[in-house]
Amino acid sequence: MFNSDEGFTHMFNLGILSGENINITKDNIIEYRKRMSKLFSKSRKDAKSEECFYCGKKCSSFCNSHSIPAFLLRNIAVEGEVYNNNKLVQILLLDDEDGVNQSGTFQLICRECDSKIFSDYENPDNYGDVPTSRMIAQIAMKNYLKGISKRKFEIALFDNMKSDLGLPSELHKQKQLVNNLDLQEYYEGFKRAKRVDNKGWEKEYYLFYHQKLDYVVPIAFQSNITLLVDFEGNIINDLYNMSSQYKTRDIHICVFPLEKSSVIMMFVDSKHKRYRRFYRQFRKLSHEDKLAAVNYIIFNFSEELYINKEVNKQVLDDKKLIEAGRKTVDIISSEPIDNPKLIARKNFDFSLMHEVPNLLLEKYKIR
Ligand SMILES: [Zn+2]
Repeated sequence: MFNSDEGFTHMFNLGILSGENINITKDNIIEYRKRMSKLFSKSRKDAKSEECFYCGKKCSSFCNSHSIPAFLLRNIAVEGEVYNNNKLVQILLLDDEDGVNQSGTFQLICRECDSKIFSDYENPDNYGDVPTSRMIAQIAMKNYLKGISKRKFEIALFDNMKSDLGLPSELHKQKQLVNNLDLQEYYEGFKRAKRVDNKGWEKEYYLFYHQKLDYVVPIAFQSNITLLVDFEGNIINDLYNMSSQYKTRDIHICVFPLEKSSVIMMFVDSKHKRYRRFYRQFRKLSHEDKLAAVNYIIFNFSEELYINKEVNKQVLDDKKLIEAGRKTVDIISSEPIDNPKLIARKNFDFSLMHEVPNLLLEKYKIR
């Protein structure tokens, strides 16, 4: 529900720290890394299913599916590596560099499915024109699969943190409630995307922004995000509405660095009218402001962002950028939930979008 990508970072703050009140320092970091990796591998095992999530066939070895196609990461990699969001957030327990092959992978489907079901959108030759409905559906499907994988893992992880680390029951209950609601929404999103892709239906997703840039941007991003407020501060999704009737709605955002150009896209499920006001406001922005808005959203809302390692250090050290990257960490852990609307507005305010360096502008291009 919060969004599909903030998972890991706040988990460390919220879960482990509140369970034991651990102060992680440079001296005890190795011990905690070890402990965490044990907890992680146990949880990964617990979360694993026996069948491919897509075709349902028994599967002994799952594919390492990339949440962002590897061909895109290669376009911004330096010697095979990219920075992840932790370069900004700097949590000592996590690495801040990833090899292209390990970046943002999940294991949920078999190799055969992985090589087939994303093939339209994972083909670099298909970006000459506006993407087809099928490509869009495949992107949505990938986003939901990644979300499902992440939530299944987190559910196992929180159970293990409760039993092995003494995570307080109340916190455990609250987290699992949100995780299960999320999981349900991702299942539904996945089923719909799969159907749209298989049937070849048109116009089920509304691509309200498609911008080709004739330079290569230094970041890569693909995810679904639950936006909280629009450009005028109106609430789009009320994160703290725990009613089972209330569903949060996602927006899908892609920043794809190609070999010589870049493609930036935003789309929503056409059935969901909740974003109508948002995209009407968005469409009225200038070209630069649109880029600034996308840049602001992805830095604020997601950990699953990959950055070229040659981006100027001054930019990566920019206080506002770091603050944006950390927001997903702080929003849930530090605020009392007595005024959710205020929290949403305080944490995410489009009027601040120009204070963050806009890495989508031509001046930051890598080619
Ligand atoms: Zn399969």
